[in-house]
Amino acid sequence: MQKEKVAEKIGYIGLGIMGKAMVENLAKAGHKINVYARRQVSVDALETNNIEAFSSPAALAEASNVIISCVSDTPDVEQVLVGPQGVIDGIQANSLVIDMSTISPESTQNMANQFSQAGASMLDAPVSGGEVGAIAATLSIMVGGAAEDFARATPIFECLGKNIIHVGASGAGQVAKACNNLVAAQTMVAVAEAYLLARSCDVDPAKVRDALLGGFAYSRVLELHGQRVLDENYVAGFKTKLHAKDLRIALKSAETKSIKMPGTELSDHYLQALLKQGDGELDSAAMAKVILENT
Ligand code: NAP
Repeated sequence: MQKEKVAEKIGYIGLGIMGKAMVENLAKAGHKINVYARRQVSVDALETNNIEAFSSPAALAEASNVIISCVSDTPDVEQVLVGPQGVIDGIQANSLVIDMSTISPESTQNMANQFSQAGASMLDAPVSGGEVGAIAATLSIMVGGAAEDFARATPIFECLGKNIIHVGASGAGQVAKACNNLVAAQTMVAVAEAYLLARSCDVDPAKVRDALLGGFAYSRVLELHGQRVLDENYVAGFKTKLHAKDLRIALKSAETKSIKMPGTELSDHYLQALLKQGDGELDSAAMAKVILENT
């Protein structure tokens, strides 16, 4: 007899820039979403009505069998998933937790073990593509965890992204994401240095960007952030404080593995300079501001 397919009851925690867009896309795909946000204003900002709000992650977990989190940093994920009144306090047997935040691979593995002991499972599924990709449902999703959990989550991922890769075991998605963010940060430094050189030689950086976009130096960073820099528009898609957090994760892993990443250290230096001057809420493309203004 064919096993009846049960529709997943999806719970979502964290309705920031990324979470809001992801919830809207899940709702567009026909899912009713259970949500938890620590501030009511974040729930009120949702455009869809096809939601039910819960007062704690534990209460949300009791009413859901797939629970997605997308909050800021490692301690935040630990708080909402395994802290007091966290998801683990309400988790149902065979539930699947999917953490789409960008956090430490080591902490991810610890939490996955805790959920396994509670009869549930966990995937790490950080994303790349920014707010634009989250809204357009074209995110790149890097997944760590068991193959059967990846298969279960794939129809959900397909509502959110396009490039969905099962990278490896628990934590592997977060390692891939650390790699992604160090490439993006170092590319941003290169774009800013290119503009600096162009400007110093009385050449229009906008024309340089146009020329580079059609050649080997093309990148999404040059295309999107390169334009932001020309417009001096640093309204956050991806906040400086979050990108700095991500490079810390990468540098911590490098330290643990006794490898050196001087390029990542240099880009971290620019992000830290922004944080010091109180610009943590600006888009991380503002690294170019430091390079262009202070060099
Ligand atoms: P954001 O706009 O700052 O949103 C974070 C959300 O998490 C906020 O709604 C915040 O609630 C909530 N939150 C944080 N800590 C919490 C806690 N301890 N308990 C309950 N809720 C908590 O950040 P975002 O840009 O959506 O990023 C979310 C995650 O995605 C981060 O890990 C980030 O690195 C990653 N990411 C972001 C981008 C991007 O382009 N934005 C791209 C890829 C990956 P409040 O509103 O109450 O503070």
